[in-house]
Amino acid sequence: MIIGVPREIKPGENRVAIVPAGVEELTRRGHRVLVEEGAGRGSGILDEEFLSAGAILRKQAEEIYAEADLILKVKEPQPSEYPLLRRGQVVFTYLHLAADRALTVALVERGIVGIAYETIQLPDGSLPLLTPMSEVAGRMSVQVGAQFLEKVHGGRGILLGGVPGVPGAEVVILGGGTVGFNAARIALGMGAHVTVIDSNVPRLRFLEEVLQGNLITVVSNRYNIDRAVRYADLVIGAVLIPGARAPRLVTEEMVRAMKEGSVIVDVAVDQGGCIETVDRATTHDDPVFVKHGVVHYAVANIPGAVPRTSTYALTNCTLPYVLELADKGWKAAVRASRPLALGVNLLEGSVTYEAVARAHDLPY
Ligand code: NAD
Repeated sequence: MIIGVPREIKPGENRVAIVPAGVEELTRRGHRVLVEEGAGRGSGILDEEFLSAGAILRKQAEEIYAEADLILKVKEPQPSEYPLLRRGQVVFTYLHLAADRALTVALVERGIVGIAYETIQLPDGSLPLLTPMSEVAGRMSVQVGAQFLEKVHGGRGILLGGVPGVPGAEVVILGGGTVGFNAARIALGMGAHVTVIDSNVPRLRFLEEVLQGNLITVVSNRYNIDRAVRYADLVIGAVLIPGARAPRLVTEEMVRAMKEGSVIVDVAVDQGGCIETVDRATTHDDPVFVKHGVVHYAVANIPGAVPRTSTYALTNCTLPYVLELADKGWKAAVRASRPLALGVNLLEGSVTYEAVARAHDLPY
């Protein structure tokens, strides 16, 4: 099979959909991998590395779209890429169609087979191609929180881990899922006091068993959140109700009661945010705003700050599915794998994922 990897062109996107190890594995199995020149640059991967792994470099994305049976991407196709897509061509990428009607209609018209990373689902309900980005975002949230607690960045001037004789920061994490767990690990490792608040008691039990250090687990209700947020130096918002808008757990009144110079990192901003004062997403170029004396960080694509780590984390998880698609062809691969079948959102002119069809009132 011919597999094509164009350079990502969405503004600010520096990841790439394959790394040299993936190219090597595919070519060893007899596939041809076309990579656009410079596709790996944003992630620190040189063209020569792709070449020596067996890739064929192409100067233009047009050539790749014209030749490849399977297109690997990170982000959804951009308008300038729509005309390059061919009927029956398989596109494996993050699509997030439910949030974008114009994109959905355009891709239906092009007749592609659209397989979305974000809807591939394992039997236990987990989303294996979203997990790596939550791991990155969770770990990053503490790193950026620590930075904005510094006086020069508008914070209270607190060192997250403290020093002997001076206590470290109080970190309160709302939601102890993938983001919350990874945030807690890093914050504990840095020597902070950490409180994780979750509505799922078995999950709190798990966190207490596996995490070591100054960890407190608290069940989620308004009373407990109100108390914890008041003493927090750093609040990390990491709740998720699958398929729904994030619940607004921290009210404006609670933010008003927080200490001057404390920091909120609302990781859940991509689902609408779980802090009432976060009324908009921010960007890496302009990541924070101050409200009621509290520094708010609300970047919707946190992993974009560390594209090299994010590329490797993502491709570690996508490659097994890429190999199935390439070796068996998409029809046999989807028939053999329920998780992969759940990834199919678009099939040669129709929408095949119910939530996407319902979101845009399209036939399903
Ligand atoms: P997850 O499903 O693993 O965890 C969510 C947790 O929230 C669960 O443990 C759940 O029990 C808990 N929860 C649900 N309702 C709650 C409530 N009322 N009170 C307390 N806890 C509650 O999800 P995740 O992978 O950790 O993702 C968390 C959020 O981070 C999602 O919105 C995700 O989209 C977002 N995210 C953002 C970025 C970014 O760059 N900003 C990157 C990755 C993930």
